[in-house]
Amino acid sequence: MRHEIDSLQAAAKKRAAKLVSANNDLEQFAFKEEQTILLIEDNPGDSRFIEEMLKEITSFNYKLIIAETLKDGCKQIKKYKFILILLDLNLRDSTGKQTFDTVIKFSEKIPVVLVSGLNDVELSISLIKQGAQDYILKQDLNSNLLGKTIQYALIRKKAEEELKASEKHAHESDRLKSAFLANMSHEIRTPMNGILGFAELLKEPGLTGERQQEYIRIIEKSGARMLNIINDIVDISKIETGFVTANFRDVNINGKIEFVYKFFKPEIEGKGIQLFFKNGLPNENAILHTDEEKLYAILINLVKNAAKYTDSGLIEIGYKLVNKDILMPLIEFYVKDSGIGIPKDRQNAIFERFIQADISDSKAYQGAGLGLSISKAYVEMLGGTIWVKSEIDKGSTFYFTIPYYTGSNMEIVENQGLPGKVEKKHENNLCMLIVDDDDVSRSFLELITKRYSKNTLFAKNGREAVELVRNTVDLDLILMDIKMPVMNGYEATQQIRQFNKDVTIIGQSAYALDGDREKSLEAGCNDYITKPIGTVQLHDLIHKHFREQTPC
Ligand code: ADP
Repeated sequence: MRHEIDSLQAAAKKRAAKLVSANNDLEQFAFKEEQTILLIEDNPGDSRFIEEMLKEITSFNYKLIIAETLKDGCKQIKKYKFILILLDLNLRDSTGKQTFDTVIKFSEKIPVVLVSGLNDVELSISLIKQGAQDYILKQDLNSNLLGKTIQYALIRKKAEEELKASEKHAHESDRLKSAFLANMSHEIRTPMNGILGFAELLKEPGLTGERQQEYIRIIEKSGARMLNIINDIVDISKIETGFVTANFRDVNINGKIEFVYKFFKPEIEGKGIQLFFKNGLPNENAILHTDEEKLYAILINLVKNAAKYTDSGLIEIGYKLVNKDILMPLIEFYVKDSGIGIPKDRQNAIFERFIQADISDSKAYQGAGLGLSISKAYVEMLGGTIWVKSEIDKGSTFYFTIPYYTGSNMEIVENQGLPGKVEKKHENNLCMLIVDDDDVSRSFLELITKRYSKNTLFAKNGREAVELVRNTVDLDLILMDIKMPVMNGYEATQQIRQFNKDVTIIGQSAYALDGDREKSLEAGCNDYITKPIGTVQLHDLIHKHFREQTPC
């Protein structure tokens, strides 16, 4: 036994010597502000000795509180905010492990360094496993060793706390991910149920025309809902992977606000809610140099939420100029509703990914909890901030700012891709080529473009398309899928442009990654459309490129 104690003491001495000779400068960790250390020690001689040594450590700006009993020590722990406790284990009112257990119970987050007598070495070592930061032998005490032991204890404790915090964070993320997956599964299955279920019902013989229309409307609504979820997931992944960039150009914000107002008016007023808009600047000053699509996405998302979480009353959209007199004026947009409101303690969290105001009630309203985090990312990309003021049952107002850059000219807005054909053809008489490797997509495109087509050709990949274009005179319009086997749409377009600069090519892709549009235009497309292709969108594009009556 004696031998064991000797070797433990020897090891402790060696460790202390190593610590003292460690090549680091205590000044490096010097405290700027006064810090309070608690010494629990019942021997006044030892206390004084330790106090003197601490005074010698010039890098410390400390205050020492001394407690002579465990009871007094615990009282002091409650009273002060200590950065460290120096603890003698053998006190008048408690000894050994019991002393430590009591102190640690009171001071969970404060590092404890044991100041041990020779006989306590073994116990001290075992207590390190139970949460003590370190121990120091009374007989070895000198100011350098004490200083370094304290500093290392503080550093270790800080590292431990950081580790605990990151574990907690990881745990929280896991919980959120599971909640997200469960919610996502619900969000996808619900519209899927609608689509598959009502498609099945449509097959029933003898359905009235009215019933058919009703089922089709449900299928459409479910499809749109599913597409919303998928778009949100794609958007958030694009943001996370750094795929999203802002494309700045001059935007008339009055036009944007009015557009959003008109877009939502039927839906919101249909619910019996009044919708207002307020433009804060006259048209000539309402030009903002920003990313039009992102601004639009943010507004749409906020108004969509306002409509979703409001049952009666009003919704108002608007903006005003703030910070007028300082160097960087801002446009402060707002979307105000008189809806259900958001609890105070959730008002920051809702801007985080996958979070709904009340996660336990996530199924009450549809939504994946992604919209606001996408909006936040967009607002920040545009140089602004987003926040909410809300009161339960009274309503919410979402605000976001965008720097009021002006001065560039409006022509940029119009400058999208190659100009369409100068000489526009009549849109009801077109020679068309539909290039798509997917049978369903080809049939769909054929159906929705029938009214424009005099003659429609088909190709299943880029190479077939290039050959067909080479052998067809007077082709007016090509709907070019981008992702195809054998030869993709970019390459096919580039090859076609080498011998045919006139045909209008509209790129179409399901990927919707930022840059696809630019890449298509660079390859030689006149325009670009994302799948699923909305009939109205495609019709708008065809109107844009073909008007005059010049049959082919
Ligand atoms: P979600 O798809 O769930 O609507 P969002 O990220 O858009 O996702 O919103 C996150 C959460 O914030 C919502 O689930 C909802 O609880 C709350 N929220 C957002 N807008 C409003 C609003 N106008 N009124 C009340 N609660 C809102």
